[in-house]
Amino acid sequence: MTHPARPRMRHCPNCDGFPTVHITTGHHRPDGTRATLRVTCRTCHGTGLVRLSAPTPLASGAARD
Ligand SMILES: [Zn+2]
Repeated sequence: MTHPARPRMRHCPNCDGFPTVHITTGHHRPDGTRATLRVTCRTCHGTGLVRLSAPTPLASGAARD
């Protein structure tokens, strides 16, 4: 059974998969609810995922003893 190829993605290291948060401002709206600010992760632009980069090959002769 074959699986479709998926892009190589992983959780964003900056937000750990929680790309959007709401921060309370300390103020309340007239209806009593808290006023919040919506903040989106700048690294993943709100997706929670980042593309894996290609592994860098080791330089030959770098691990000489
Ligand atoms: Zn992120």
